[in-house]
Amino acid sequence: MGNIVFWTLIRLAVLIPVMWYLLETIRYRYWIIWIFIALYIFVIHPAVIAYKKFAEKSKPVLENTLCSTCKHFDESAVLCMLYDKHVSEDEIPCGGSAWEPD
Ligand code: SF4
Repeated sequence: MGNIVFWTLIRLAVLIPVMWYLLETIRYRYWIIWIFIALYIFVIHPAVIAYKKFAEKSKPVLENTLCSTCKHFDESAVLCMLYDKHVSEDEIPCGGSAWEPD
C-alpha cells in the first residue's frame, strides 16, 4: 500500500511542473479540463489499477490465514504489526505462537 502512495506522489510531483510548463508556454484554452484529464490519466487511473492488483493479491491472505483474525494484523498493509513483517499465505512471521484474537 505504501508503494502505491509513494508512486502516486512521485507521478503527481512530476505532473505538476510539466502541466505548469505546458500551460504557461502553449496557453491552452480550457486548461482546467486538461489538468483533470492529465490527473486522471497519469495519477488517478494508475493508482486505482495498482490498488486493485494489491487487493487481488491480498485477498487470499485476508481470507485464509491465521493472521487475518489476529489483533496484531493490519489489513490495509497486510502486515503483522508485532513483527513488522508482511504476511503471506506461505509465511506467518510468528508461526502462530503470538496470535491473539481480534
Ligand atoms: S502475531 Fe502472529 S498471528 Fe498475529 S499477525 Fe503477527 S504473525 Fe500473524
